[in-house]
Amino acid sequence: MIPDLEEAVVAIDGASRLAMACHIGPDGDAIGSMLALAVAATENGKEVFPSFGHPFTLPDTFDFLPTDMLVAPDEVPTEPEVMVTFDAGSPDRLGDLQGPADRAETLVVIDHHKTNQGFGKYNLIVPDAAATAEIVIELFDALGWEITPVAATALHVGLVTDTGRFQYSNTTPKTLRAAARMVEAGARPEVIGRHVYEETPFGFLHAAGAVLSRAVLESERRLVWSVLTVKDLNDSGIGLDDTDPLIDALRTAQESDVAVLLKDLGGGRIKGSMRSRGRIDVGAIAEPLGGGGHHNAAGFTVSGSVDSVMDAIRQRLEPVDA
Ligand code: AMP
Ligand code: MN
Ligand code: MN
Repeated sequence: MIPDLEEAVVAIDGASRLAMACHIGPDGDAIGSMLALAVAATENGKEVFPSFGHPFTLPDTFDFLPTDMLVAPDEVPTEPEVMVTFDAGSPDRLGDLQGPADRAETLVVIDHHKTNQGFGKYNLIVPDAAATAEIVIELFDALGWEITPVAATALHVGLVTDTGRFQYSNTTPKTLRAAARMVEAGARPEVIGRHVYEETPFGFLHAAGAVLSRAVLESERRLVWSVLTVKDLNDSGIGLDDTDPLIDALRTAQESDVAVLLKDLGGGRIKGSMRSRGRIDVGAIAEPLGGGGHHNAAGFTVSGSVDSVMDAIRQRLEPVDA
């Protein structure tokens, strides 16, 4: 049973305007969950303001979703009556939409991060859910809202991406039943798969080549890591938001349990992505770096050098016996 579900239904059902925010740098679960509820809320007569904090750009990957519904962050009501957040484990993950969330009369938080303290009035937090989308599907049912093909597609994107195409350990029978329902409701796996996994800008190939060719394996820690430089982005002509799949290429090194990709944001800022095969809790490593996430997937953004960040990570990774 989802906590606060009945209260959230009353709040959402009773609202004529809904502010919505997902975490900054949205992934498939964040944007898919939010757009699904936005589409359905519109069909149920509500005015919606779905958005995410700066930088307000999305990879082309998600162009097949109803992204035309999105409004810029400064168009979100600053003191909303009801606001819903998606896939954000803490308020700072909302970026510049944290203000409206703080000021919302009723804040509904929908999320599956274990570390989420419940920063809303109503907290639909289910740590065992594979994706926020899984929780949103139950919210649809509780609201009595129909899952149209457009909503089903957006929700399926959340399920597919957060489970790594249904292969991570968070994939449960419930997740697969939810996915089956989305396909019955009109989601097309081959269309979603093509957009999300089979298409990148050509420049991505060169950026991936650069990142993979400088990958380092530290066998004693079963760690593989690499760096994406500002020059890589300039040379390849891709944007930072096109680089999400890079970590998936890096983490396949079979000699590693942990993969780390440091993306140089310029100005001395670094965004880190971490993945684990299960032995190490990378969420616990990302947290002291000001980030967070899950046991097997986590991230952070810090000021510092590549060396200083890697040293901080190494300190928390015990060398293992060969
Ligand atoms: P990423 O490597 O950016 O795909 O992030 C992997 C996961 O880590 C995300 O799904 C989030 O749950 C979490 N995460 C990433 N960046 C941050 C951050 N700056 N703060 C907290 N959690 C983060
Ligand atoms: Mn996410
Ligand atoms: Mn998620």
